[in-house]
Amino acid sequence: MVALSTNGRREEKAVANIYDDKRIFPDFRSGPLEEYRERASFCYKRMNVVLEGEDHIRLKHKVWQWMEQHPDYQREPGSDLERTREMANKRQHLLWEQQFYGVNEYLGTPHLLLAFGQAIFSYDFSTSVKFGLSTGMFPSTLVSNGSGRLGKYVAKIADNRILGAYALTEISHGTNALGMRTRATYDVKREEFIIHTPDFEAAKCWVGNLGKTCTHAIVYAQLYVPDDKHQGLQAFLVPIRDERTLLPFPGVTVGDMGEKIGLNGIDNGFVMFNQYRIPKANLLSKTGDIDAQGNYTSKIKDERKRLGASLGALSVGRVNITAITYVALSKAVTIATRYAASRRQFGPTNSPAEWPVIEYQSQQYRLIPHLATTIALRVATLWIGKENVDLTMKGFTGEDTSQAGMEIHAISSALKPVATWAARDGIQECREACGGHGYLKSSGLGELRNDNDANCTYEGENNTLIQQASNWLISLRRNNADFVAVSPLETVSFLKDMDTILQSKGQEHTPAQVLDPLNLLNALNWLTIWHWIRR
Ligand SMILES: Cc1cc2nc3c(=O)[nH]c(=O)nc-3n(C[C@H](O)[C@H](O)[C@H](O)COP(=O)(O)OP(=O)(O)OC[C@H]3O[C@@H](n4cnc5c(N)ncnc54)[C@H](O)[C@@H]3O)c2cc1C
Repeated sequence: MVALSTNGRREEKAVANIYDDKRIFPDFRSGPLEEYRERASFCYKRMNVVLEGEDHIRLKHKVWQWMEQHPDYQREPGSDLERTREMANKRQHLLWEQQFYGVNEYLGTPHLLLAFGQAIFSYDFSTSVKFGLSTGMFPSTLVSNGSGRLGKYVAKIADNRILGAYALTEISHGTNALGMRTRATYDVKREEFIIHTPDFEAAKCWVGNLGKTCTHAIVYAQLYVPDDKHQGLQAFLVPIRDERTLLPFPGVTVGDMGEKIGLNGIDNGFVMFNQYRIPKANLLSKTGDIDAQGNYTSKIKDERKRLGASLGALSVGRVNITAITYVALSKAVTIATRYAASRRQFGPTNSPAEWPVIEYQSQQYRLIPHLATTIALRVATLWIGKENVDLTMKGFTGEDTSQAGMEIHAISSALKPVATWAARDGIQECREACGGHGYLKSSGLGELRNDNDANCTYEGENNTLIQQASNWLISLRRNNADFVAVSPLETVSFLKDMDTILQSKGQEHTPAQVLDPLNLLNALNWLTIWHWIRR
C-alpha cells in the first residue's frame, strides 16, 4: 500500500516481518555470485538484523528508497566542479526538506541518528558532510557553547533559512589551536566586537560551506578586552553573507579553496576580516563572558581547559567520523569481494574453465581481514555512537557527565585514527584486488578512497590525536587514578587489576581456545598494560 507523507514523499507501508520485506531483502538476480551465496553457512538477512537492528535497517531503506526515486539524486557521471557543488548543495537542502530524522526523531529515538548518518553517507560523502555541518556541527556548537541570546539564530537554522560553517583552522595554524591569530577586540563604546585578520597567514581556511554557500560561521578568535588584555581563544557567531543574495558583507573577503582530491561537492573556503563589527551578543559565552564594560569572567580558569571545553563539537565529530569510515570500508569490501567471486583468471590444466580469483588464498588473505575489520568497526561505532548519544541526553537533563565526556574524548581520539587508517588501507587493497577494473572511476573505489582520506586529517589530525589518547592514559598512571571512577564506560577499568593481569600467562592450547573472544580480550589487556608499564 502506498501513502503520501507530509513531505509529499511516496511511502509504502512497512511489511511487519522484516525478513519478508522484498524492498529490504530482494530476491537476488541469478549470476556468478549465486554459487557462493548458496554455499553460505549463515543467513545473511539474520546477520544483517543482528548487526544493525531492525529499526536501523528500516530507516536506512526508507532514505535509500526516496533517493532512488528522486530525479535530483540520480548519478551524473562526468560533472564538473561547479555542477558537483551545485548538486551537493541542492541535495542537502532536499534532504533537509524531507525531515527523515529531525529534532523530534532525535529526541524520541536518539540511537537512530547513527543509522540516518550511515544511510546518507552511503549515497555521497559531500552531500552528507554539508548536511552534517549545517544541521549538526554548526547548531550543536551554537546551542552547547552559546546562550539564549542566540536563540533567534537557532530558530532560523531550524527553518533552513541560514547555513552555517565552523571556522577554526588558519593558514598558519591547524593542530596548534592556541596559536590562532584572528582577533576579536571589544569596543566598550559601541558594545561590539571588531573581528580582524592581521595578515593572510591568519586567514581562516579549509572551512566547509564557507567557499560559496554559508551565511554564518562560528569563528574562533583571540579575545582582547579594554587595555588590550588578552583573554584567550573564544568562539563568535559571525555573519558572512546576506541571507537573500548570498553576497558577502563589507569587511568580509571570502573565497573558495578550489578543487580538492575528494569531497568536491563541499565548498571549502577561506575568509579574512577587515575591522568587521559584530554585536556583543554574538560571543558564544558558555566558557567565558564579558559584561558591557568588557570585564571578563569564566568558570574555567585554565585557558587550555577552556579551549578544550569550547571545542567539544570536535569530539562528537570524531565519533561520527568513525561511523562514516565503516560505511566507506564496507562499500569497498562489498565491491571487491563480489568482483573477486565473479572475476576468473587461470584454471585447471587442459581445461578451458577458469577459477574465480576469490579461490586463490592470496586473494582471500588480502580481502577477508578487511571484511573482518568492517564487522569490528560496525560493533565499535554502534557502541561509541550509543554512548555518545546517551551522554548528550544526560547532559540535557543536567546530569554531571564530565567523567564520561573525558573518557569519550580520549577513546574517540584513539578510535578515529584507528578506524580511518583501517579504511584508508582497506579501500586501497580493495582497489588493487579488483585489478585494472578497480581503477575505473565507475568502480566507485577511487571516490571512496579520496573521500575517506580527509577523515584522517580533519577534526584532529590522526597522528596528533593518537597522542592525546596516549597522554590521557599516561596521566591516569602518573596520578594513580581510580581506574573504575575515571572509566564509567569501562574502557580502562581493567587497569585496576594490572598487577594480576601482568603476572598471568596464556593457558590456550588449541586454536579454538586462542580465538575465544574472552581470551583475545585478556591478551589485549595484557599487551596494553605491558606497553603502558614500559613508559
Ligand atoms: C577536507 C577538509 C575539510 C576541512 N574542514 C574544516 C572546517 O570545516 N573547519 C576548520 O576549521 N578546519 C577544517 N579543516 C582543516 C583541518 O581541521 C586541519 O587541516 C587539521 O586540523 C590539521 O591542521 P593543519 O592542516 O594545519 O596541519 P598541521 O597542524 O600543520 O600538521 C602538519 C603535520 O604536522 C604534524 N604535527 C603537528 N603538530 C604535531 C605535534 N605536536 N607532534 C607531532 N606531529 C605534529 C601533523 O601530524 C601533520 O602530519 C579541513 C581540512 C580538510 C582537509
